[in-house]
Amino acid sequence: MIGLVSATVAGAAARDRLAAAWPERTRVYDGPVGDAVRRAFAECEQLVCFLATGAVVRLVAPLLDDKRTDPGVVCVDEAGRFAVPLVGGHGGGANDLARAVGEVLGAEPVVTTATDAVGLAGLDTLGLPVEGDIAGVSRALLDGEPVALRAEVAWPLPPLPVADEGAYVIRVTDRLVEPAAREAVLRPPSLVVGVGASRNAPADEVLGLVEGALRDAGLSPASLAEIATVDAKAGEPGIVAAAERLGVPLVTYPAEELARVDVPNPSDAPLAAVGTPSVAEASALVRGGELLVPKRKSAMATCAVVRRPGRGRLAVVGLGPGARDLLTPRAKAELRRASVLVGLDQYVDQIRDLLRPGTRILESGLGAEEERARTAVAEARRGRAVALIGSGDAGVYAMASPALAEASDDIDVIGVPGVTAALAAGAILGAPLGHDHVSISLSDLHTPWEVIERRVRAAAEADIVVTFYNPRSRGRDWQLPKALAILAGHREPTTPVGVVRNASRADESSRLTTLAALDPATVDMMTVVTVGNTATREIAGRMVTPRGYRWQEEPK
Ligand code: SAH
Repeated sequence: MIGLVSATVAGAAARDRLAAAWPERTRVYDGPVGDAVRRAFAECEQLVCFLATGAVVRLVAPLLDDKRTDPGVVCVDEAGRFAVPLVGGHGGGANDLARAVGEVLGAEPVVTTATDAVGLAGLDTLGLPVEGDIAGVSRALLDGEPVALRAEVAWPLPPLPVADEGAYVIRVTDRLVEPAAREAVLRPPSLVVGVGASRNAPADEVLGLVEGALRDAGLSPASLAEIATVDAKAGEPGIVAAAERLGVPLVTYPAEELARVDVPNPSDAPLAAVGTPSVAEASALVRGGELLVPKRKSAMATCAVVRRPGRGRLAVVGLGPGARDLLTPRAKAELRRASVLVGLDQYVDQIRDLLRPGTRILESGLGAEEERARTAVAEARRGRAVALIGSGDAGVYAMASPALAEASDDIDVIGVPGVTAALAAGAILGAPLGHDHVSISLSDLHTPWEVIERRVRAAAEADIVVTFYNPRSRGRDWQLPKALAILAGHREPTTPVGVVRNASRADESSRLTTLAALDPATVDMMTVVTVGNTATREIAGRMVTPRGYRWQEEPK
C-alpha cells in the first residue's frame, strides 16, 4: 500500500489525482501531517508526501530503522513539478515510485542515488540477494576503480563495468562463503531442493533435512530457487511450511513426469505410494541440472539438491523507425538490461547513449545477418543477457526469425515489438492502412523473384493495400516498376501512392503521388512505398483508405 499525505489545497489536489490513478494501491492519510506521516510510515510499504522535503526529513528521521525494511518515501513539491525519492531509493523502491508518480502527475523524478544517476545497476537492484561489502563495491564501480567479476555460476546479469582484475570483487556463487574484504557476493537462484515426505512429516524435520543438506554440501540457502516435489504432495503440510519458512515457492510435478527422470537412487516405496520411483532426486532433476547432493533421508522425509544452470536471456528488440520517442519504454529497459548487445553498426549508433556502462557491444556491418543471429544465440546460451536489435520491428524482415531458427529451448527469449516502417510511414501519409493491407519486400536477395511476383499478383487481385519494403537499390532497379505494373493491371492510374523516406529520422521526406505518376528513380532503400487499393483516396492532402463505415456513405 502507498500512503498519501498532504498539507495544502494544491497538495491535496495532486494527492487526489494520484489516488484516482491508483485506487487499489493508495490510501489517503488525513489529519495533522505529523500524525499522518507517522501512521502511514508504520502501515504502508511506501509513502508519497505532498510536502516540502525539509518537513518530511524532520518527520521521518526519528522513524528510520533499516534501509532494507523502511518504507520508500517520495516527496512531491507544492506545484507538482518534482518527485523526489527521499529515503529507500533502492530497497524501499522510492526511485521507481518517483518515476511512476512523475508519469501520473507530469512531474520530473529527481533521483539522487549515485548508481541510478549514472545509469549503473546498483548491486542491490539486480534482483539477486547480495552480501558483503555492497557499499564499498558500488562506490568502486562509480568511481571507475577496477572491480573484478568472479562468476562461479553463469547467470544473465545486467551490465556491470567490471575488469579481469581489481582490488574490489563481485563474486557470483551459490556456495557458502564468507565475503572477503572489498568483496560483494551475489547469490544467483541456482539451487533446487527436491523433497519427498511421508504423510504428516513434521515441518521442522523437513526444514532440518533441507538446511542440513545445503550446509553439509557448503551451499548457501540464499541461492535456493525453489522446493520441488510430486503433485500428490502439493498440500503436504510439512513441505508447504518448510518452503514458506525458507521463503521460496513450492513447485510440483506430475508423477509420470518424475518417473521418466533418470536418477541414481530410485526405490520402491514412493513408486507404491505416489507412482514414481523417485520424488526427491527426480523432482530436483526434472528440469535438468547437476545433482550436488544425492538423496538423503530423515525418519519421514527425503531430499536432494540440484544446481540448475543459469538460463541465458535473449531479448529481440525493435528500435522503431528512428526517432527516439518512437522507441518504446520496454525496448529501452531491455537495452539497459542486457550485458551483451548484438546488432548492425548503424542501429547500435542509434541507441549507444542508452546503454549502461559495461555493456559489451558486438556490432557488425551489413550482410553479416547470419553471423549476428548465431552470435546472439551463442552468447545467450553461455548464460548471458543479450539484446539483439533491429530497426522498426525486429521481427519484420529482420533478425528475430534467423535468431529463433538457431535457438534451442535452453534459453529464454523475450520479444519487444517496435514501430515498423509501414506504420511509421502510414502515420505520416494519413490513414492508408485503414483496411486490409500487406507488406511485401522487393528484395530478391534471399527470395526468388517468382515468389515475390506471385505475392504481388495475389495482393493486386485481392485489392489489398500494399507497402513495399526494400523497394529499390542501386543494383536492383527493375523490381519496383515491375511490381507497380502488376498492381496497375487491377487499379486505376489515379490510385494514390505514398512514398516515405527516412520516416521519423532527421531527413524525413514524404510524397503523395499516383500509380501513373510515380517515378521509381525517386525511390531508394531508405524508403517505403504504400500503394492504395481501389477505395483509397487523397483527402485534404492525406492518403486515406476508407474502412467502409456505414455512416460515411453518401446519402441516397
Ligand atoms: N525491421 C524493419 C524493416 C527492415 S527491411 C522494420 O520493421 O521497419 C529494410 C527496409 O525497411 C528499408 O529498405 C525500407 O524499405 C524500410 N525502412 C526501414 N526504416 C525505414 C524508415 N525509417 N523510413 C522508411 N523506410 C524504412
